[in-house]
Amino acid sequence: MSSKNGYGRGDSKDRRNRKQYLINTYGDGETVRCWIGSHPDCPGTLTAATLTVDRVIPGCCGGSYQYSNCRPACGLCNQTRYCEVHQPHQRPA
Ligand SMILES: [Zn+2]
Ligand SMILES: [Zn+2]
Repeated sequence: MSSKNGYGRGDSKDRRNRKQYLINTYGDGETVRCWIGSHPDCPGTLTAATLTVDRVIPGCCGGSYQYSNCRPACGLCNQTRYCEVHQPHQRPA
């Protein structure tokens, strides 16, 4: 997948820019709330160092890494979220 059009995951610079975009858009520019918040150990507040990019439409359903499809989530919630169409992406170990 090409990173040029924003559909792919992109390189490390793209990923950094994407995270900062999410913090600016959904947070206060420095921190942002995990948009899922379903995991019991969810930290709630995220920074650029802890935030992971969740896709509203998951990759298995064709969801892209375009900014409009990205939301900020902690790693825990992101890992345990599953797709209702394709069922769990990653089962807990
Ligand atoms: Zn979370
Ligand atoms: Zn799916």
